[in-house]
Amino acid sequence: MILPKTNRLTPEQLNEVTAIVTEFGCKIQPIIGAVRTIYAIVGDERDELMINRLEGLDYVDRIDRIQSPFKLMDKRSDLASHRIKLGGIVLGEELFVVAGACTIDPKNPNYFYETAHAVKEAGAHAIRGGVWKPRTNPYTFQGDTKSLDILMEASRRTGLPVDTEVMEEAHIKLALDAGVCCLQIGARNALNYSLLRAVGKAIAERETAVLLKRSIHMGPISEFISAAEYIAAFGNPNVILCPRGTTPTIDGYRNHPDESITPLLKEKTWAPVVVDPSHSVGKASYVPACALAAVAYGADGLCIEAHVEPAKGIGDDPKQALTPPVLAETIRQAKQLWQLRRGGIGAKK
Ligand code: PEP
Ligand code: MN
Repeated sequence: MILPKTNRLTPEQLNEVTAIVTEFGCKIQPIIGAVRTIYAIVGDERDELMINRLEGLDYVDRIDRIQSPFKLMDKRSDLASHRIKLGGIVLGEELFVVAGACTIDPKNPNYFYETAHAVKEAGAHAIRGGVWKPRTNPYTFQGDTKSLDILMEASRRTGLPVDTEVMEEAHIKLALDAGVCCLQIGARNALNYSLLRAVGKAIAERETAVLLKRSIHMGPISEFISAAEYIAAFGNPNVILCPRGTTPTIDGYRNHPDESITPLLKEKTWAPVVVDPSHSVGKASYVPACALAAVAYGADGLCIEAHVEPAKGIGDDPKQALTPPVLAETIRQAKQLWQLRRGGIGAKK
């Protein structure tokens, strides 16, 4: 990773470093951080001669040689000071909450509009709504592109940014063109490296963020962070890690709640952690406790399914969506706990 002395390289300087690394079979990928741009050397960057030549350039501050499979997302990376802004806040500075329906019902848009208003009222910073749905059962509702208009209308009505899951390249373009600020990669696609690459390419040099769910098939923590690295490596490090329950399930819960991996993630990566308690436990009555546990473990935020009338919802909403009053109370308590943590136990010194 090349760290320039200035905020970014001039086009002439970029040409010069590109020419040097090309001689050694590598490429340069600019990574645009909040304050400055750094330049990843893509390829085998261990050649001492190449490093010496780069270090010899007077506009190069230093070459960061972290030996890590996720050198951009690694806590030791120069990007560790990068901050992600979403919904009017900087993640890490305030508890971030994204909430809304699992699945937007295209036949009943008012449920989503009312839910969006209730989510805003409850103190969330962004709205979630599933347009395209990965469903285990092929005969159930799979989502509908028409719901994208409903999602964006809810965003206009509330003034809040929106998050939606993309499952294929066509969805990425549709969502970005519509103005979706946060693309969600679901648990089923978190190991789909071609989709991760496509998302990375599509959002390079944009302010778009990605909410990357943890796959139930992911083993070590490093596999999760490496999936985030796939996206960041194309130039946009706005990747948020989202534990959402894993296997084997605990009898009675939908998955095995995994908010407890938050401190482990935070030891290895600077990426913010936004826990999804809804898919983790899978039942509305268990969600508030799981949300608070996530905050106690040090999460930077929560992704919660909510609906004005869960019984009238589709997808996961009838079983796991919180009603507006429960959502509001959960967010209130979660924010209090976050403040308590920040000033006391486990607080950063
Ligand atoms: C969802 O957020 O509605 C969803 C399908 O989540 P996951 O990918 O975590 O199952
Ligand atoms: Mn869902």
